[in-house]
Amino acid sequence: MRDLLGGKGAGLAEMTRLGLPVPPGFTITTKACNAFSRKGRFPPGLWKQVEEGVAAIEARTGKKLGDPARPLLVSVRSGAKFSMPGMMDTVLNLGLNDVTVPALGGLMQDHRFAWDAYRRLVAMFGRIVKEIDGHRFEAVLERYKEQTAGNKDTDLTTDMLRSIVAEFREIYRKEVGREFPESPKEQLREAIAAVLRSWNGKRAVDYRNFNKIPHHLGTAANVQAMVFGNMGHDSGTGVAFTRNPSTGAKELYGEYLANAQGEDVVAGIRTPMRIVELKDRAPELYEQLARAADLLERHYRDVQDIEFTLEGGKLWILQTRSGKRSARAAVKIAVDMAKEGIITKQEAILRVEPLHVVHLLLPQFDEKAKSAARKEGRFLARGLNASPGAASGYAVFDPDEAETMGRDEKKPTILVRVETSPDDVHGILHSKGVLTARGGATSHAAVVTRGLGIPCVTGCEAIVVDYDVGEFRVRDKVIRRGDFVSIDGTTGEVFEGRIPTLEPDFRKEADLQTLLEWADDERMLQVWANADYPRDAERAREFGAQGIGLDRTEHMFMETDRLDIVHEMILAAPEYRRVSAEVRALKAEMETAKEEKRPALAKRLSLLEPVLENLSRRYLGSLEKLGRLQKEDFTGILRVMQGLPVIIRLIDPPLHEFLPKYETLLVEVTKLTLARGDPDVLVRTARSDEDQAFLEEVREAAGGDLARGIEALIPKKQMLLEAVAASRETNPMLGLRGCRLGILFPEITEMQVRAIFEAACQLAKEGLDVRPEIMIPLAGHVNELKVAREALEAEAKRVMEREGVQVAYKFGTMIEIPRAALTADEIAKYAEFFSFGTNDLTQTTFGYSRDDAEGKFLLDYVEKAILPFNPFQTLDREGVGQLMRVCVQKGRKVRSDLEIGICGEHGGDPASIELCHELGLDYVSCSPFRVPVARLAAAHAKLRPEVERMEDR
Ligand code: ADP
Ligand code: MG
Ligand code: MG
Repeated sequence: MRDLLGGKGAGLAEMTRLGLPVPPGFTITTKACNAFSRKGRFPPGLWKQVEEGVAAIEARTGKKLGDPARPLLVSVRSGAKFSMPGMMDTVLNLGLNDVTVPALGGLMQDHRFAWDAYRRLVAMFGRIVKEIDGHRFEAVLERYKEQTAGNKDTDLTTDMLRSIVAEFREIYRKEVGREFPESPKEQLREAIAAVLRSWNGKRAVDYRNFNKIPHHLGTAANVQAMVFGNMGHDSGTGVAFTRNPSTGAKELYGEYLANAQGEDVVAGIRTPMRIVELKDRAPELYEQLARAADLLERHYRDVQDIEFTLEGGKLWILQTRSGKRSARAAVKIAVDMAKEGIITKQEAILRVEPLHVVHLLLPQFDEKAKSAARKEGRFLARGLNASPGAASGYAVFDPDEAETMGRDEKKPTILVRVETSPDDVHGILHSKGVLTARGGATSHAAVVTRGLGIPCVTGCEAIVVDYDVGEFRVRDKVIRRGDFVSIDGTTGEVFEGRIPTLEPDFRKEADLQTLLEWADDERMLQVWANADYPRDAERAREFGAQGIGLDRTEHMFMETDRLDIVHEMILAAPEYRRVSAEVRALKAEMETAKEEKRPALAKRLSLLEPVLENLSRRYLGSLEKLGRLQKEDFTGILRVMQGLPVIIRLIDPPLHEFLPKYETLLVEVTKLTLARGDPDVLVRTARSDEDQAFLEEVREAAGGDLARGIEALIPKKQMLLEAVAASRETNPMLGLRGCRLGILFPEITEMQVRAIFEAACQLAKEGLDVRPEIMIPLAGHVNELKVAREALEAEAKRVMEREGVQVAYKFGTMIEIPRAALTADEIAKYAEFFSFGTNDLTQTTFGYSRDDAEGKFLLDYVEKAILPFNPFQTLDREGVGQLMRVCVQKGRKVRSDLEIGICGEHGGDPASIELCHELGLDYVSCSPFRVPVARLAAAHAKLRPEVERMEDR
């Protein structure tokens, strides 16, 4: 029906069938529209059918088009299958002319009304059919309104309206070059043609392109007898929702404007009254409306958005459609309707868009307070909406301070930085929000805050941050350290001062909880979470996570108090590896060497042994320190997740990611060398914040003395530079990382496994049920896994033996290299679980480096429709998806109980979750804040095909 009659036409027909009061009319189909589009004129027979339709309306109303005795007026209303707001318009009051206006006035005993209708017709016809700029008509209207006492359209007198019509027709004549058409038939014909033509208007075509609505659908046109809301105080027009579209409450909600017609309510020419007020003022009407609303809602089994008109106390319904609603309302309405028995629980689940759930779990500004702030001139600037949600807090420029204020003093802070780096994470963790002057949607600040669910605005170029003074400036305004600022990460806006936020509380979202519980009963996929810190894990559990699918251990390396130890470890590692290999070789040689060769070998050994000892102190010693810290990390997360699996991934990124940047070091060494003769040059040339920070570092290197600081730093920095230079890679993403690291430097991963099992054993002794799963990243060949696993499992067993407890554990691998997916049957022999690392798997399948692709060409690709969407956001079914399918099949063939999940960012994307469901994965793992989304999306994935099958029958 909707295909042929459009949404509006189908609704009108259905309402008529239901016996609701709908003015008589008929619908010109979308088929006719398409024929019109092809030919550029009315297809044969159409006009005849229109005339027959008009005759039918005439018969039912007892009025006639153009008849001076009883004139019929009609509207022509466009209506496609999908509503296309603002695209095509409606022309009201067709049929008025110099003869019918006075006739209508006489008949209704209201000449003012007739002229009011006429001026509307001329303006609407001019604007919509002839594309005359509407402002031209409005200007005239305004001029007349100003002459009245009340300055309202209802204050215009009949004479004024008559003059307005004259002026409108003059405008029409000038713009069109012809008189306004007097013939009602001609008016009707032109209006219909305009509506049909508008389907291919530029605005409509652009709108369809943007919203991916097919162009072949066409629009329908509805011709309908007019009813009049502008006939005095017991007439009017309004819009009503069957439930409150922002809260979801079950109440008639909407607006009503007395003595008005058409779009007057929406246009805001007078202040309408709220529908509830009708209850007192016009109880009978309210009752009629409430009854119709209830009927329509039950009939369509969804909230309806109803357009109605009251003519002389009688109700007419002019349109009904499913009502748009806020995320919050969607949840409440779905749950309520299921409880009322209007829809099933399964339908309720499908009624809520999974991504909308996110909105319910973020702090939002109180909208009223926000617009008040704007009026008070407190709006400062707009940056990128990097991480949604709203936050207010004290401006703080130093991450350490953010940490103390947030953690110890429990004060809300907004961390303001030029941009952020891993060194700032401890501050970010304890801030309410983050604001940066630089950086895009994939900058460090954006990525970290999104993962943590902290609101963030990045790339706010209008602000100038000064760390030294502790302030930022926007134009002539200065925000000092400790001043209040407010950021809206959903819109990118930054405000001065405090704006109250509405804090989310998952536990209090009763309707959402109910809906998610229903979803849990349906879904096949489990939902796990990616969490690196106990705090995240706790939140994930609260949101319903059934395990941790990815605990990235390297984040723990990045914390400030550990960075020095990590540096020391990394600097010593390659030397240690080289020297220990040599010592091992020498010792082996000694065993078999001839007597006369031994002294030379022994001498060499005695030279090397102290070197190795020193290196081993630095390398193994640092690892031991790190191991102690990692044990605490793992104890924390395993404790929080007791009873549930926790997948801990061994170190993955290339080691140089933990070191300063090569370029930075090069500049620093150069500067220091140049400043040797003239230390003050450092002071004179320190301009940027980075320069200042470096100057500070040099000073501190020798207790405040610049010259001595330079001398002390040069060898240190040079050494670092050499180390960084030696470990530089052309393609770090494809370089020495993942399991390759653990194979070259087994001491690092053995330390991690030791820490994991020490933590697990300790907790097991406390009586907790802990389930660590060790994940080896980036394997591509079964032998990598074999080697790594043997060493690591041996380490695990050693710890458990020493501790005297057994812990249930699994060893498994990430699947992020196509070769691993294709040889899954081999790999599965050495892995009890697979986890698709789809960020890397997408990189390696497409051969795109994500960091380069997103910034350089990927968005162009999407725009040019070379790719249908960004494959880093939504899984590429045909390519990556196919690899996953092969992998699942081959893997399960070898090991039927192989646990398979996904831990890439796709794990929180509803379309990707659907694919994971189809592939039969055991779980998806996503960021804690996405857990509710994923719970719902997993149920959608299961239910949608079932519903479609039912609809097909
Ligand atoms: P839109 O698609 O923009 O909502 P409509 O075709 O629904 O356009 O028309 C807008 C408004 O014009 C309606 O809500 C109603 O108030 C008025 N209208 C349209 N047709 C009639 C009619 N036959 N009688 C009275 N009012 C009408
Ligand atoms: Mg409408
Ligand atoms: Mg990876």
